[in-house]
Parts: sequence; C-alpha cells; structure tokens
Amino acid sequence: MNEVKKPKRPLIYYYVIVLLVLLVFNFLCMPLMAERRIQEVDYNTFVSMANAGEIGQVELQQSENRILFTNSDGTAIYKTGMVDDPELTQRLLDSGAKFSGEIIEQASPFLTFLLSWVLPILVFIWLGQYMSKKLMEKAGGPNSLAFGMGKSSAKVYVKSSEGIKFSDVAGEDEAKEALAEVVDYLHNPGKYREVGAAMPKGILLVGPPGTGKTMLAKAVAGEANVPFFSMSGSEFVEMFVGMGAAKVRDLFKQAKAKTPCIVFIDEIDAIGKKRDNQIGGNDEREQTLNQLLTEMDGFEENSGVMLLAATNRPDSLDPALTRPGRFDRRVPVELPDLKGREEILKVHARKIKYTDDVDFNKIARMASGASGAELANIINEAALRAVRTGRGAANEADFEESIETVIAGYQKKNAILTDAEKKVVAYHEVGHALVAAKQTNSAPVQKITIVPRTSGALGYTMQVEEGNHYLMSREELENRIATFTGGRAAEELVFGLVTTGASNDIEQATKIARAMITQYGMSDEFGMTAMETVQNRYLGGDSSLSCSPETQTAIDRAVSKLIETQHAKAKKILSDNRAKLDEIAGTLYERESITGEEFMRILNA
Ligand code: ADP
Repeated sequence: MNEVKKPKRPLIYYYVIVLLVLLVFNFLCMPLMAERRIQEVDYNTFVSMANAGEIGQVELQQSENRILFTNSDGTAIYKTGMVDDPELTQRLLDSGAKFSGEIIEQASPFLTFLLSWVLPILVFIWLGQYMSKKLMEKAGGPNSLAFGMGKSSAKVYVKSSEGIKFSDVAGEDEAKEALAEVVDYLHNPGKYREVGAAMPKGILLVGPPGTGKTMLAKAVAGEANVPFFSMSGSEFVEMFVGMGAAKVRDLFKQAKAKTPCIVFIDEIDAIGKKRDNQIGGNDEREQTLNQLLTEMDGFEENSGVMLLAATNRPDSLDPALTRPGRFDRRVPVELPDLKGREEILKVHARKIKYTDDVDFNKIARMASGASGAELANIINEAALRAVRTGRGAANEADFEESIETVIAGYQKKNAILTDAEKKVVAYHEVGHALVAAKQTNSAPVQKITIVPRTSGALGYTMQVEEGNHYLMSREELENRIATFTGGRAAEELVFGLVTTGASNDIEQATKIARAMITQYGMSDEFGMTAMETVQNRYLGGDSSLSCSPETQTAIDRAVSKLIETQHAKAKKILSDNRAKLDEIAGTLYERESITGEEFMRILNA
C-alpha cells in the first residue's frame, strides 16, 4: 500500500518568493552598489572644481552632512563632507552647477514602506511557517501540541499493486473468512441493503502480539480496494484534555469524506480501557473514548465507514465499546497451529533463497508456540546465517540454528565452562531427555546440546510434538513435570549435589503443577473448584488467586507434594537406567550436541 502524500504547494507561492527577492535586489542592493561607485574627495578639491566650473550636478544632503556632486559630463560621482561655508551656495551658482535631487536614485516612500515594514513581516510569517512545519515533522505529525491542535495524524493508504492481500497472510483461515464478508460488503453494499442486513460497524481483532492483526486489517483494505486510515490508539491520547477527542472527530470527518473506507485503530486498549472513578483516572483518555463512542453512534449503518480495531487485551476494554452496535464482532487471531506455522514459514521463505532440502514441516514442528512475527524472524535469521557463513542460500541447518537463536539466544562464543561444570550440564540435560524418553505420552527428544547461549541457558533439551496438541491429560502434565525435574534428579543421583542450573526447570514445573490444581481441577483434594482466574490471556496470562488464605496454604502444600512425587519418579527412572545415563552423558560431553535420533540409537542399543 502507498501512503498518500500531501499535495504540493501552489506555484504562486514560488512566484511571490521570486518577486520579493527581485524587489530586495532592486531597491536595497542597487543603491548600495551605486554608493560604492562614489569617490570621496576633500573640500578643497570640491572648491577648486567649482571654481573651475567642472561640476555638473550637485546635491546638498543636509541630513547626512555631505555634498554629492558629479563632474561636468556626469561620468563620475564624488562626495565630500559639509563644512560651515556661507559662500557655498553662491559659489555653486557661479560655477553653473545644476542643483539636483537625485544623483543617486532613492527608493520611493511607498517602496521604502514596503521594504521596511511589509517585507520583514512577510519574511517572519514565512519563517514561522517553515519552523512549525519542521517542528511538526520532528514531533511526528501535525498533531503535536502547539501546531495544528486536534488534527488527527491518521496515515491514509490507498490500494496499490503491491498492497497486502489475504494470500500474504498465511494460516488464520477463520479470521480471513470472517473478514472476507467485510470485503464483499465494501464491494457491493447494495446487496446487503436490499435484504436489510446491516454490517457490524466495528470489528475487533483480538489475539496475542505478532499474530498478524495489523496485516489482516491491511489485507481487508487491499482486497476491498478502498482507502485505509490507520492510527494507533496511543496517538489519540494527548497531554491536554479534549485534544484526543478533537482528533477522533477529525479522523471521522476525513473518513466520512472518503466512503467507503476502512478506519483501523491499532492497540485500541490505549483509549478503550474500562472507565472508572479511581483516583488517578485519566480524563483525557475517557473523553477520547466518549468521543469515539459518540462518533460510532453518529454514523448510519451501511454508511460505508468500516471500523477495525486490534488489541491483545480484550478483557480490559470498556463494555460500552463492545456492546452491540459498536465493536460487536470479535475475530480471534490466535497463535498459528502446525499447518499455519508451516504456511507462514513458506510465505516468508518466498523472500529468501533456500536450498531444496529444507523441510518446512519439520521446522514448523520445532517452532511450536511461535507467533507469525517470530516465524518471520526465524526465516530472516536463517538467511542472515547463510550470508554470515558465505553461502548463497539458506539450508536446513541454518533454519534449525535460527530457531535455537530465537528460542535461546545466540551461541556464547567465549563462555568457558570448567570441565566439572560441563560434566554436570551434560548429565543435567541427559537427565531431562532420558526421563522424557522413558515415559509414555511424552514428546520425543529432538536435540540435546550443552553449548551455552546468550539467554543464560548452559544447555537445553528440545522436545518436539509430532502434530497439533489441544488437550493435555493429567498424566501428560505429570510427565512434563517429571521431565522438568529430571535434570536436577540426575545431578543428585550422579554427583550427590544440587546446582543453580535447575532454577528455570523449577519455575516451569511449579507453573504447571499450580495450574493443574487451581485451574484444571486435577487434584484429589480440591476437585473441580477454580481457585485462580487468568488475566491477560494473550499477554502471558498472569493469574490471580481467588480463595481464602487457608486454602492458599493448602494449595502451596499440594503443589510441592505433586512436584515431589514427580521428582521421585524421575529419580527412579534415572537410577533404573543408570548405565544409559552415563553412556549418553559421556557422548554429549564429548560432542556437545547430539540429535534425537542419535540419542534414541544409544538408548535402544
Ligand atoms: P500484530 O498486529 O498482531 O501484533 P502484525 O500484523 O503487526 O502483528 O504482524 C507482525 C509481522 O509478523 C508481520 O509483518 C508479518 O511479517 C508477520 N506475520 C504475522 N502473522 C502472519 C501471518 N499469518 N502470515 C504471514 N506473516 C505474518
């Protein structure tokens, strides 16, 4: 899509500037240059020239206390200072000099007025405008405080041949289907009017960051071939109360002039948060929201203005904003599933060169839980790695490495582990892998490595699900916890010590165990009571407890009991397979990185 540029200045603007320059040149510079031609002589010379009758014209400039005169044929101009000479006039009359008013042409009073009053004012106005324009550019648009108050800074896009289409957005089929109706409506509103069907005025795209909400909104505009106004929610909120509201008015004024069109408000939660009367409430934001609600009520159904908004905090939105008649249609844009991930990878891989052996399905499986933006990043990292190693195309190893880079950070070049530490890390990682492999219903191990990463991980075990996994059973979750505790269990078993290396495992295991008890109803003690509510589902999902302090204590106890049971199970698995543990850890220690297949080969040998 192309952003529409502001119209150029009219030609007359430049004409005026040229005219001013000419005027200045004529009436300021010319006299100055003439002044330069004047030769200064002393009074004696003047008197002797007068006596000899060699003076053509003469001008007595009382105000400047000087006498200007020319020679008899007028080719040279002289000046001399005025002295107290009573016979001066008589002397000049005798010499036959002509008394003249304009040896050097002076500007007319009107022009003098123009130059000394009008011109400076014009120059200052121009300078002011120029500076304000520059300042506005710096402040990011004509919405900065002092200049163009209350103007919306919406970027207007019109469709161009390279505009984003639905085909550029991979996966997200449900969202595309919901939006295809909007496109159809924008193409042919009459069809809907005939039946009496009204399109929703607003559509809310909700989902985690980086799943393609903005892209989808742009694709709607691209497919519908209509103007697209895009603005971020935070751009409305200003320092002074009322300015955001003015911007909303301006945005809708612009949009109504261009119907049919799409208005897209990104991160709408910046203005759409629930209104409350708490201290520190935000008057400006609430005013802006009120104005938005009013505007949405103000335009008729089927008027051709279609509002799209994106947010990843739908639960924080004001109920007035989501009621029927406003943003009443909600389109979830979720993290892509396996097929979606594969498609997204393929869409982005079109932009880079890669070898034929790359299996996108495998890469998609490895990148489980990644968002569209992360997948785009993985593709780019792979291309960068190919360039870094001096190859013309990215190969499968580049993609695998780039997934690890996106997950765990870059390899640390100069992190030197002592021999003993390296051994502990090797046992720790193999502990995870072995516990995972020996349990049923557990994702297979894809790779084990003990190369330190910039994220701080000293090594990690990558497990990859084969297909999509929507439901988790109690047993599977318990197995996961056991896998997380496997690292620490191996350290205890082999070295009889505990290290700090397990802190992340402990955190993850605790999270699962707590969720099992408080959210999934998987404990015998509490049964199916919800004791936690999840907030901000799309932004990590913090949870808050909603139970009495006594119950909280009991939950804490149940969580640690659950983890302890699984820890004991992991320890038992490892001690039963002690020989394999030693063998695989030894191999890993030497090679620093082994694949899932090698791991299974040693295990099954
Ligand atoms: P959001 O608005 O949901 O935070 P964006 O629409 O800004 O996310 O997406 C960010 C980037 O991620 C896009 O520019 C695109 O490169 C990539 N992306 C995300 N989802 C998809 C998808 N479904 N198909 C292709 N690319 C995607």
